[in-house]
Amino acid sequence: MNVLVVGAGIGGLTLALELHHAGIACRIVEAVPRLEPIGAGINLLPHAMRVLDRLDVADPLAAVGVETRESIFFNRFGQFVYREPVGRHAGYGLPQLSLHRGDAQLTLLAAVRERLGEDAVELGRRVVDLADAGDRVRATVEDAATGARATETATVVVACDGVNSAVRAQFYPDEGEPRYSGVTMWRGVTPWRPFLTGASMVRAGWLASGKMVIYPIRHGVNGAGDQLVNWVAEVERPRSARRDWDRTGRLEDFIDVFDGWHFDWLDVPRLIRGADRILEYPMVDQDPLPRWTFGGVTLLGDAAHPMVPRGSNGAGQAVLDAHALRVALQETAEPRRALLRYEEERLPATASVVRTNRVRPPDTILKEVYERTGDRPFTRIEDVISTEEMAAISEGYKKIAAYDKDLVNRAE
Ligand SMILES: Cc1cc2nc3c(=O)[nH]c(=O)nc-3n(C[C@H](O)[C@H](O)[C@H](O)COP(=O)(O)OP(=O)(O)OC[C@H]3O[C@@H](n4cnc5c(N)ncnc54)[C@H](O)[C@@H]3O)c2cc1C
Repeated sequence: MNVLVVGAGIGGLTLALELHHAGIACRIVEAVPRLEPIGAGINLLPHAMRVLDRLDVADPLAAVGVETRESIFFNRFGQFVYREPVGRHAGYGLPQLSLHRGDAQLTLLAAVRERLGEDAVELGRRVVDLADAGDRVRATVEDAATGARATETATVVVACDGVNSAVRAQFYPDEGEPRYSGVTMWRGVTPWRPFLTGASMVRAGWLASGKMVIYPIRHGVNGAGDQLVNWVAEVERPRSARRDWDRTGRLEDFIDVFDGWHFDWLDVPRLIRGADRILEYPMVDQDPLPRWTFGGVTLLGDAAHPMVPRGSNGAGQAVLDAHALRVALQETAEPRRALLRYEEERLPATASVVRTNRVRPPDTILKEVYERTGDRPFTRIEDVISTEEMAAISEGYKKIAAYDKDLVNRAE
């Protein structure tokens, strides 16, 4: 058996490490000629870290990121709402990491090249078509530099080609536009002195009048001891931009919303203005699919279940997919049956996360505060919402996304 992995994102690279660990031959074709550190911050929660730890990449990932201590919520006036420890600080056996997506990708890429060989990841090669040939799959692969096309065959092809998946489009040509949630995100990274615990993940405000997500993703970026801080400004906007992770955004399209956000622990407008580049991305997702597997081809990660990024689970669910697919391939004699077994486990699980991210992700805490206070400052948070109610919102999401502490620690 050999596996062709389409796409060297977090999902594709983790899958390659999993397959190698199980002695299953594989290689990756990646469309872009160079993997650049594009994007901003991502989070790897303990459920994904358990998989990555078993693959012996948890330490190298921790070395390039920040081990998050707490998740903390404020209203848009900077008033404290709720906090809870995360990762090892909450009693998990594994950390929660906040990282630059590029650092995570390049760390996994180095591990893949070291273990599978320098040639295991073929850059500048885009899959443009797949054809089933009974017991094998034929992939048409286009060279980015020359445009020349070649045919590759593999027992199994796994499409880890992200939100704009060409493979998904081949199986679902009439799927139509992604579903826009009505919210646009502007993101950036800024060198900044450590704030709060120096490892706090902040969510503040609410979408209707502006919400921010802010957390450090790299330590010691200059001689002054600054961290690289990731920030995401989320604002309701009627129109959706193109779904492109590398699209440049404009400060003047959103800065007015946050101009008054000067807190004693952080000056938000200054943080925003300190970024070299601003990226714009619409909060979109797609309805869960009826199936991912077509003969010897299946989907994984964002190609299978694009979700609105409101629960820090995009990368993590791709990692869980990769693990489940490897186990299915290892334990099922017939590869095509293994793909179906993987789909049976992961399609319903990820569909729940996609749906919950729409209606009840962890930041529902802030929605409740926004609605109950009429978006005004409060005197005592206890009079607005109880700590127990906020904890229940957070715990409910953990169960759906499979990072409930008992579940993760039991599986170690
Ligand atoms: C450039 C970029 C920047 C991102 N920035 C952020 C961010 O700042 N914050 C965040 O939360 N998430 C970001 N994401 C998304 C995040 O990485 C994913 O949600 C998550 O990690 C799951 O990853 P994935 O492996 O399923 O898909 P992705 O990480 O999207 O990886 C897909 C890979 O497939 C490659 N590919 C696409 N089409 C083809 C093809 N036809 N043939 C071969 N290869 C192909 C792509 O070039 C890419 O490398 C970004 C994704 C990309 C591609």
